[in-house]
Amino acid sequence: MKLPESFIKRIHTDLGTEAGSFLASLETESPVSIRVNPAKNFNPEGLDRVVWCENGFYLPERPLFTLDPLLHAGAYYVQEASSMFLEQALKQSVDVNQPLKVLDLCAAPGGKSTHLASLLSEESLLVSNEVIRPRAKILAENLTKWGNPNVIVTNNDPTDFQRLPGFFDVVVVDAPCSGEGLFRKDHSAADEWSEENVNLCAARQKRIVADVWDALKPGGILIYSTCTYNRHEDEENLQWMVQEMGAEALELDISAFRDIAPAQELPGYHFYPHKTRGEGFFIAVLKKDVGQEYRSGKPKKPALAKVSTTIQKEVSLWVENPVRFDYWAFQEQVLAFPARWSGELLALIDKLSIVQAGTEVCEIKAKNLIPSHALAVSSILKKAAFSIEELDLKTALTYLKKEEIKPVGTDQYLLAAYRQTPLGFLKRAGNRYNNLYPKEWRIRMDIK
Ligand code: SAM
Repeated sequence: MKLPESFIKRIHTDLGTEAGSFLASLETESPVSIRVNPAKNFNPEGLDRVVWCENGFYLPERPLFTLDPLLHAGAYYVQEASSMFLEQALKQSVDVNQPLKVLDLCAAPGGKSTHLASLLSEESLLVSNEVIRPRAKILAENLTKWGNPNVIVTNNDPTDFQRLPGFFDVVVVDAPCSGEGLFRKDHSAADEWSEENVNLCAARQKRIVADVWDALKPGGILIYSTCTYNRHEDEENLQWMVQEMGAEALELDISAFRDIAPAQELPGYHFYPHKTRGEGFFIAVLKKDVGQEYRSGKPKKPALAKVSTTIQKEVSLWVENPVRFDYWAFQEQVLAFPARWSGELLALIDKLSIVQAGTEVCEIKAKNLIPSHALAVSSILKKAAFSIEELDLKTALTYLKKEEIKPVGTDQYLLAAYRQTPLGFLKRAGNRYNNLYPKEWRIRMDIK
């Protein structure tokens, strides 16, 4: 890999005697790691653990993930290990057992958001936002597969969150950056690097944090991260947040993780690939001391209506602990959303561009309720309501290609599963079954 000269020079200044081993580490293979979904029954055995993440594991080599049905079922997420340190940043700065309103502002494709969804209690609300529309769709797909009902996906610019002063307890800004920490994994990141781009990134990161700051409540926490080692984007931006925004940078306890390199002037944490088993990463936790409290304002005419009690009764049969949810009609869909956050849902619909909210339980077609794919892969699914069609690997991949399979079961709806993890529904049509796997998510690869 050809590294930019000015990058090499700066690394020598920043890392001194460690620069040689840092540069050598960029020529080694990137570790492969996954984070397991605690809400699904996949328990990998014999794998090394990522020390700062309860459900993080290293794989001995990179498999062809597309050919593993469990990936499509949301049983795990392929995620770089250093960025899983978000778990420590969150757990050490807030009580995750409390109901929290959390915003993941730069969220696609969903590594941090799926992680947050697993770390937060069922009583919390996660708003997962991505400004670029096609990327927001991918984010929604990954969060659907992950299966938590207490999530809203939005497609907004950071400035739009100024309409919600003091709303969030926690805001995560995993900022777009110059990507120096990805040079090893993605050589094109090194080709695209320039000092000019670093300066553009640093200015944009400040803008993003300044834009979202009002949406954080007084006493709230902002977690700032990048995948770069660059001081302009890391330490200097942190300094700027403290001086200009009045933020307090919080110290984290890293005594159990000695290979993490603390920043010098303020509490911020660097991950270097010659020291930690992961890619380059930087993270800092900031506390907002003063600001405006959230006021819900006068309720307007709701933009969504609840479904009839007849429909609610029917769909409740498919949902575990159904009284936790309100059931909303959205076009032909029925959405289950935690009842305790209904007011917030309506407020957010009023102020933001919503891509999806809660779990789509079913579609109503000619008065028939057809269970949705999102329900099949959701943690709210009442499995006992459906006959399970356990598939072998070959048949599971045929199902995920959205091709016809011939199940053994005979019910109107069957829940296709692989290693007891639901993949999606099958619907009886005469003497065959329609494959209800979403067309746009199907595996397109030729499988021998
Ligand atoms: N948090 C994600 C994860 O863990 O999977 C990765 C996020 S990536 C580092 C940064 C994201 O910020 C990208 O999805 C990018 O589209 C988005 N982005 C780019 N420009 C932005 C801007 N001006 N404001 C907010 N987000 C932006």
